[in-house]
Amino acid sequence: MSTNLRIPGPTPCPPEVLAAASGEMINHRGPEFAELLERLTSGIRPFFRTEQEIMIISASGTGAMEAAIVNTLSPGDNVLCITVGSFGDRFGTIAERYGAVVARSEIEWGEAATPELVAGLVQQDDYDALLITHNETSTGVTNPIGEIAAAVREVADPLIIVDAVSSLGSIEMRMDDWGLDAVVTASQKGWLSPPGIAMAALSERGWQAAERSAMPSFYFDLTTHHDYAERGQPPWTPALPTMYAMDAALPMLIDEGAEAIYARHRRFASWTRSAAKSLGLELLADEQYASDTVTAVKVPNGMSGPAVTKRLREQHDVVIAGGQGKLAPSIWRIGHLGYLDESEFAACFSALQQALVAEGYSPAEGAIIPGIDG
Ligand SMILES: *Cc1c(COP(=O)(O)O)cnc(C)c1O
Repeated sequence: MSTNLRIPGPTPCPPEVLAAASGEMINHRGPEFAELLERLTSGIRPFFRTEQEIMIISASGTGAMEAAIVNTLSPGDNVLCITVGSFGDRFGTIAERYGAVVARSEIEWGEAATPELVAGLVQQDDYDALLITHNETSTGVTNPIGEIAAAVREVADPLIIVDAVSSLGSIEMRMDDWGLDAVVTASQKGWLSPPGIAMAALSERGWQAAERSAMPSFYFDLTTHHDYAERGQPPWTPALPTMYAMDAALPMLIDEGAEAIYARHRRFASWTRSAAKSLGLELLADEQYASDTVTAVKVPNGMSGPAVTKRLREQHDVVIAGGQGKLAPSIWRIGHLGYLDESEFAACFSALQQALVAEGYSPAEGAIIPGIDG
């Protein structure tokens, strides 16, 4: 049996997807590439829920975050960065690096940004843009992006730039209905695919901002991507194996359907939370905003988080993630996005129970982990 990889990305891929990734190379300036690009963008579109062009960028998710910033902002722009964890911090740092003036609103890790809070914050200054994370992978919190965007639009008019890297394809996104101006995601999270491809879309306002933008960009210049895409080409040599993989993964996702996929993620998330609680463990996130793609569990007092992850890895071949940044030693994170196998979840929690007991944690002894539908 292969390693039980339960981290929030990269996520395990179906065997057919891995097989597709090993296909022979093609000419990325030829007609077969144009067809591949067309299949991918039309397969991805229903998950973005946008009529806008979807650009495929060969990069990890951070590349698409950078693309969203350098194409829509200018040095000196006034930017509000709502951060509920380390990916929110990263968004603000990218904008700063390119010369934006970034006001950070740091919400306690484990909590979500609420519409009221964000609407209040955007009125405190004249902001050109709002940077916000849809699903904060470092804390297992999902911000109610649709409601936040609606509340913001009632009082102000910043560009709304959204990191949806660990939500898109797994948690509902309605880019056009919610009036979002830039949305980005990446292949290795909810898309049943390996790392290598990031996806980005800009609204009409986002494209207008791109015309004005004075931030430098070359590799991530989305206007260049757009001009080439019109000819069915990428501007630069693309990550073909990841594109082949997505070409095999998208029909599976489309077959299952967006609503069914979102429901499946909700079910695994809710099961993961009950399994953790049944072991006597506390969750980091406020349950109202708990993520459907990743769950953060608090390491019990007096116990070493890394000792448990090491034991899981070495003795059970189960890989879970620790925390990031300031939460590094105090939480574990379990990913439940993409390709989800019930027996692997059951195995993960039974291994976690054994590892906890082996590390001297008694409340877990004899605990009954619920069945996945129970
Ligand atoms: C994974 C992730 C990213 C991007 O990380 P990469 O390693 O660059 O792909 C960005 N934001 C969030 C919320 C993520 O989960």
